[in-house]
Amino acid sequence: MSFLSKIVPGYRPFHYVGEKIACNLCGSREQAVLGTRDRWLNPLTNVICTHCGLIRVDPMPTDAELDRYYTDHYRLHYQSTLEPTPKSIERGSKGAQARLARLSKLIAPGARVLDIGAGGGEFLAEAKRLGFEVEGIEPSVGFAGYAERTYGVKVHVSPLNKIDFGDRKFDLVHSFHVFEHLRDPFASMKLVHALLKPGGYFYVAVPNMAEKRTGMFHFAHVHGFAYESLRMMAEKAGFEWVPSQALRAAQVFRRLEEPVKDWFRFPNHAAELQQKFRDSKLSLHLLSADPYRRAWARLKRKLSERKLNAAR
Ligand SMILES: [Zn+2]
Repeated sequence: MSFLSKIVPGYRPFHYVGEKIACNLCGSREQAVLGTRDRWLNPLTNVICTHCGLIRVDPMPTDAELDRYYTDHYRLHYQSTLEPTPKSIERGSKGAQARLARLSKLIAPGARVLDIGAGGGEFLAEAKRLGFEVEGIEPSVGFAGYAERTYGVKVHVSPLNKIDFGDRKFDLVHSFHVFEHLRDPFASMKLVHALLKPGGYFYVAVPNMAEKRTGMFHFAHVHGFAYESLRMMAEKAGFEWVPSQALRAAQVFRRLEEPVKDWFRFPNHAAELQQKFRDSKLSLHLLSADPYRRAWARLKRKLSERKLNAAR
């Protein structure tokens, strides 16, 4: 194992079989390849649904393969003893404050807030400080324990669909960089819908695939969204969009009683996003003499030579 693969868990290729699936948003099987490498240049295929524009890893890893990835391969991030660092706490708190500045105006004092993917609990702590009743979900035992100990908040370590909330319903569900990790984000949005009170709010932020299109593919990010695909999925799951200026992949939605029937409101999105990827590939090609890219290629070559020598 190279030095790099020890400090950067994603650097090591992850071998999996996966399965061919239909698009999670629209059910189509029409697709086009967007990329064949992850951000560490390991083989990884990402496709775009040419009908609706939702991006996914293809083939899609199974639940068991994703579990194996998180427990073995990504151990540095997910081992149970790992806790947040001062730096991640500071960053998390700043982001939480900024998001709550907007979200706290939508809900009444003392409202119930659920954070899916609570991390070290910075959002829960900030929401609690503002007087809301808070609860979180976090897969990492270390982070969940840290949040409970430090902020005196309840954090569940089970998957969303395994938690018994009894008849508790929420006024706001918040999820920051979680839905791109899910094999079935649509089913999870419907679960969020079921957990919200009538008229409750759903804040969801994911990496914006329409903004930065190079070096962003990542095995753990099994789905890729833009504003359009995020909004269409939320509408299909029974939410209406709460208008905002910035059309990024971070939006607020409001729970409706019924799904939006004509949710397929951006029929040109798939073609437009594909074109953006083609354009950025072209500019990348024009920049291929870039000295940093050459240095990176040299380093990769050296490492693989060393691996070959070690194998002899
Ligand atoms: Zn689709």
